[in-house]
Amino acid sequence: MFKKILIANRGEIACRVIETARRLGIRTVAVYSDADANSKHVALADEAWRLGPAPVAESYLKVERIIEICRLSKAEAVHPGYGFLSENPGFVDALTAAGITFIGPSADAIRAMGLKDAAKALMQKAGVPVVPGYHGDNQDPAFLKARADEIGYPVLIKARAGGGGKGMRRVDDPIDFLAALEGAQREGQASFGDPCVLIEKYLTKPRHIEIQVFGDNHGNAVHLFERDCSLQRRHQKVIEEAPAPGMPEAMRAAMGAAAVRAAKAINYSGAGTIEFIADVSDGLSEDRFYFMEMNTRLQVEHPVTEAITGQDLVEWQLKVASGEKLPLTQDQLSINGWAFEARLYAEDAAKGFLPATGTLDHLRLPAHIARVDSGVRQGDTITPYYDPMIAKIIVHGPDRKTALARLLAALEATEVAGSVTNATFLAALCRHEGFAAGDVDTGLIGRDQDALIAQGETPPTVMALAALASLGLLRPAEGTDPWDRLIGWRGWSASRQFAVLDHKGARHEIEARSLGRSRFAVHLAGNVLELELTHVGDGEIRFDTGGHRDKARLAETGQGLSVFYAGEAFEFVRADVLSGDDEGDAAGDKLVAPMPGLVKVLTAQKGMAVTRGQPLVILEAMKMEHTLTAPRDGVIADVFVAAGEQVTDGTLLLALAEETADAA
Ligand code: ADP
Repeated sequence: MFKKILIANRGEIACRVIETARRLGIRTVAVYSDADANSKHVALADEAWRLGPAPVAESYLKVERIIEICRLSKAEAVHPGYGFLSENPGFVDALTAAGITFIGPSADAIRAMGLKDAAKALMQKAGVPVVPGYHGDNQDPAFLKARADEIGYPVLIKARAGGGGKGMRRVDDPIDFLAALEGAQREGQASFGDPCVLIEKYLTKPRHIEIQVFGDNHGNAVHLFERDCSLQRRHQKVIEEAPAPGMPEAMRAAMGAAAVRAAKAINYSGAGTIEFIADVSDGLSEDRFYFMEMNTRLQVEHPVTEAITGQDLVEWQLKVASGEKLPLTQDQLSINGWAFEARLYAEDAAKGFLPATGTLDHLRLPAHIARVDSGVRQGDTITPYYDPMIAKIIVHGPDRKTALARLLAALEATEVAGSVTNATFLAALCRHEGFAAGDVDTGLIGRDQDALIAQGETPPTVMALAALASLGLLRPAEGTDPWDRLIGWRGWSASRQFAVLDHKGARHEIEARSLGRSRFAVHLAGNVLELELTHVGDGEIRFDTGGHRDKARLAETGQGLSVFYAGEAFEFVRADVLSGDDEGDAAGDKLVAPMPGLVKVLTAQKGMAVTRGQPLVILEAMKMEHTLTAPRDGVIADVFVAAGEQVTDGTLLLALAEETADAA
């Protein structure tokens, strides 16, 4: 076994690999970009080395630098994680030339599966069913059109070098074929530098079912059953499960055998996934599944397989790469229970699932009831440079129903403040009747998306708690002095206070009156809610509303607060923060970064006279540029950042000199 390995990745997968390596007594070397210098994977590893600036081309994709760090740190092998360099045969060749082991398959195996058309031809030869279609060399438009007519519409045109759903066009009517072909070729050329396409029969009710395979360097290959990844949004997986609901035993056996044949056909070593598409317009059947592509790496969703087989796939990878045989034979493997994985992302479902960024002011992941694989901690920032994943939440249960109930409970116990997340969307999916019944296909989310992202009304209780919290009335009872315990209690007169909060795009002025010991009346849109606090502490508020005892949790954020109630997060921004009358800060003496990003252009200099509205800083965030201007006329007293620097939201960028008395 290796003594020391380097993990050429970041985030949750780097942390995941480090944990197994540590358990096996293997020392770990992390690598990081400037944006990740203080991140969790760096802290977890035994040592960490800087790669370069934040953009991936200057850091996580730098082959020579990674090999140099292997030499400097004396790492014997490299685990690539997923993404980045994990399916790059040139990287494998460069490592091999430097005498370093790649923890993964051979460069030849990666190349064999790199292009969809060649992979399909290879699989057909190995007796693996492929989607009916044409995947040859002839790219003449008239010839391809004739093939499409033969296959029968609808057809799917796919760029052979495609990935991530790019360069794909569905054609329903022969009249549209040539225009769609041109579009797919153009996209293939633009995204992958390769205009070649293949044509497939388009399946109208497909399920994405993939088989986990494993090979070693002694000619052995096994499969570890299937995962169903049909819950997709725009071809991106959202919730995965294992096994696949409703899977007939004969089909499982046929798919497993086909996947092992596929792996053996390319002398596969290490962890891999054979992705199949199953035509379920007439239910699942062993004669209606087809090879789609092979991923020659560990997948994001591998934990569901680990949960049902009781195996650690990273441990298997390390053993196989160090020359050992596969830990188990096919008949030693079996399925135990059911598992789900949900991908928790910083993204705004209501705004078209726009990736979000932000500093995680508050983060409470449900590690007490689920397996949580995460690369971030409370206080960390989701930057625009990388995948905005916060965590993978994995649950296991004796059966599908129990496991799904656990997934919902885990999502409801998840608390994130400082960035929007898809947690509510994931929870809504868990409650979806079709999904609960196991009636899934890749179109499910698209069909029901509006209902899945619909936002309900904010419960009055939540509005009341937010108001009390923003007025400072929800402080924990401290000390032993009974007077300290009288929350919001001001002598014997009922005091009236107003909270001004922005919530879901509207401003709310909420009146709160103290009624006595820990009792309040909160006035909400004509209604009065009376509420008695029974406990406040550790972020938890317990209260009584007329004989109903309930609880919520609360977290302060940079601009306001978040209330977590009944499994949902509600964000409030204090109006004084927005209107800028908070201690004169936003009144114009300072310029603060409104979001995490990169200081792209900095025109401000110390001592420079500026006029209100003059552009001073251009911040690049989420691949867009945001111009920040002078808040008032004045002179720049100090500049605290430099061009090229990565900043978090709330970072002080520059300050203006105080107004002098003779300023007109
Ligand atoms: P990419 O490599 O771009 O991700 P894939 O070939 O893996 O493309 O397909 C991505 C997704 O597109 C699948 O998971 C499935 O939802 C859909 N898809 C692919 N092929 C077909 C097909 N022949 N019919 C219907 N849907 C398909």
